[in-house]
Amino acid sequence: MEHSIQENLATVRASLREGVRLIAVSKTKPVEDVQQAYDAGQRLFGENHALEMRDKHAVLPNDIEWHFIGHLQSNKVKYIAEYVSLIHSIDSLSLLQVVDKEAAKHNRVIDCLLQFHIATEETKFGLDQQEAEALLQSDEYRAMQHVRIVGVMGMATNTENTQLIRSEFAHLRNLFTQLKQRYFANADSFREISMGMSHDYPIAMEEGATLIRVGSAIFGARNYNN
Ligand SMILES: *Cc1c(COP(=O)(O)O)cnc(C)c1O
Repeated sequence: MEHSIQENLATVRASLREGVRLIAVSKTKPVEDVQQAYDAGQRLFGENHALEMRDKHAVLPNDIEWHFIGHLQSNKVKYIAEYVSLIHSIDSLSLLQVVDKEAAKHNRVIDCLLQFHIATEETKFGLDQQEAEALLQSDEYRAMQHVRIVGVMGMATNTENTQLIRSEFAHLRNLFTQLKQRYFANADSFREISMGMSHDYPIAMEEGATLIRVGSAIFGARNYNN
């Protein structure tokens, strides 16, 4: 039986561990669906296309926190820089430079996560540890005034193998801990681990997620692959 968005939200919320925030991933879904979730009290939403986020932001309530969760092209940053709360998908120094530049135009500091490639699949975007450290050590990064790195993000392999999923999440938490020690020991703001989607968020929470990104378990299956 189909459950309502409100019922689905209640179910996911009831399973949240302490300290975990839920991002409702509304990509491909109409604004009416976002509004329904909003009316049920949800305030954090995730989108993975800049123009879609821009259009939804324009018509939906102002107190929504918009999270950008997908691969972000540099030439699209300008559509989200004015209002985005958190960009989960920083996967290069050059993208971070563009975010810094666009944030400056709006006199903002934009919070960002470094996205890591933790899955065994080849297709997913993301940094490895060496690339992340090179970014954090670069003069370009150190000169930035309008971005703040507040944690890490990753996607596990799309599989039924829960052992594999668990080990990939544990790896991301481990990366978080190492970066925290080496680069952010005195920064309380560096505290987010964004991991877990509809099919694997319970495992992600057990492995230390602070942000989970849940779409289809709230809004139902998407019509096209996104
Ligand atoms: C689509 C998407 C999600 C949500 O996926 P569901 O399986 O629908 O919960 C989470 N994270 C990212 C990066 C996504 O692109």
